[in-house]
Amino acid sequence: MTAYPFDAPESAALMKRAEQVIPGGVNSPVRAFRSVGGTPRFIVSAKGPWLVDADGRRYVDLVASWGPMILGHAHPAVEEAVREAAGKGFSFGMPSENEVALAEEIVARVAPVDQVRLVSSGTEATMSAIRLARGFTGRTLVVKFAGCYHGHVDSLLASAGSGVATLALPDSAGVPADSAAETIVVPYNDVAAVEAAFAERGDQIAALITEAAAGNMGVIPPEPGFTEALRRITREHGALFISDEVMTGFRCSPAGWYGLEGPYADGAPDLFTFGKVMGGGFPAAAFGGRADIMALLAPTGPVYQAGTLSGNPVATAAGLATLRGCTPEVYDRLGVVSRTIADAAAEALTAASVPHTVQWAGSMFSVFFREGPVRSYDDAKAQDTAAFGAFFHAMLAAGVHLPPSAFEAWFVGASHDDEAVGRVVEALPGAARAAA
Ligand code: PLP
Repeated sequence: MTAYPFDAPESAALMKRAEQVIPGGVNSPVRAFRSVGGTPRFIVSAKGPWLVDADGRRYVDLVASWGPMILGHAHPAVEEAVREAAGKGFSFGMPSENEVALAEEIVARVAPVDQVRLVSSGTEATMSAIRLARGFTGRTLVVKFAGCYHGHVDSLLASAGSGVATLALPDSAGVPADSAAETIVVPYNDVAAVEAAFAERGDQIAALITEAAAGNMGVIPPEPGFTEALRRITREHGALFISDEVMTGFRCSPAGWYGLEGPYADGAPDLFTFGKVMGGGFPAAAFGGRADIMALLAPTGPVYQAGTLSGNPVATAAGLATLRGCTPEVYDRLGVVSRTIADAAAEALTAASVPHTVQWAGSMFSVFFREGPVRSYDDAKAQDTAAFGAFFHAMLAAGVHLPPSAFEAWFVGASHDDEAVGRVVEALPGAARAAA
């Protein structure tokens, strides 16, 4: 048997075309299936929990565009909002009411956020939050955790998760040594390492940035007390604490990871970054936090940040409709769907004697192909990625599209109905045997 149980001739032909004009054939590296091998599926349409590829096959989608599609694809309320907005123009480059309404929705949900600035990607959000922290403190250094991914910002690519982990890259070429030297990387969930970094250079550190709960090396939640310790240490040294909720925001709870773990006895993070869900599948992201810090942004302050398409009226309409659609029932359904799939995966892998562990951050989960607990990037890297590759392809053949990497969360949406969940549950035992 080949490693790839079925062909996808139309996708393969499209990939060949793509490789002529797009590096690696893709516009974001992890889409290329490099770590699992085989042909990435070119998607022609998506509705609810289903994807349809260029060969006419239907898959249950457990990628959800890497997080945003919390309500499912082409949700009727979001589609209507997008059509209505697009009917009034695509981009104004001037203020519009939807921007205000989206900012209000975010501020209303996440208590420590007084103000937000809208941008177009999570990368822009973290990059801008770092600049703001540097402007506020007058310092340069940034502390990040190994395995946390904050977008492809020069200084944040050191020991990054996501595609950098998938492709087993140490870091990225093209990042100037000076930028890399501005970043101190410490192990996740290791308070002593954070204390040591601050003890050594605390008076030069502008900010510590962390994924609120790590999702880009697989799901690794902060251990109890870890986030509080980060708050305490950054405050003691006059550095800002940036909580990156691009992945967890509005997914783990209406107020993201903060809504599950906060409020903290020692106070809230100073700045937050958001993306994914708040754009409803369109390019919208944000950074925000304390009003006195946000006031430093141009035009009221000296820290410059801008964007031609920032606050785009169609993207903000999609984001607003998505956030407003995130009802308590939606979060309940996400919990049920995640639990059903994760339990079935664990049962199938146990029955096939495949070492594994499932880890959670709220209803966000991932399956590591090693025994747990997985606390850090080093732990995550010690999994059996070959076993995951075999598992991934068996799932794909059975009509379930997992993230093509062992280092990613499995994303569900509230539209995953019993048929879609049933398809996943049925596929799991065979895929587990393929991984054994
Ligand atoms: N921060 C986190 C936690 C992310 O998961 C991501 C993307 O996966 C980013 C930042 C970057 O967001 P974007 O891909 O929209 O630039």
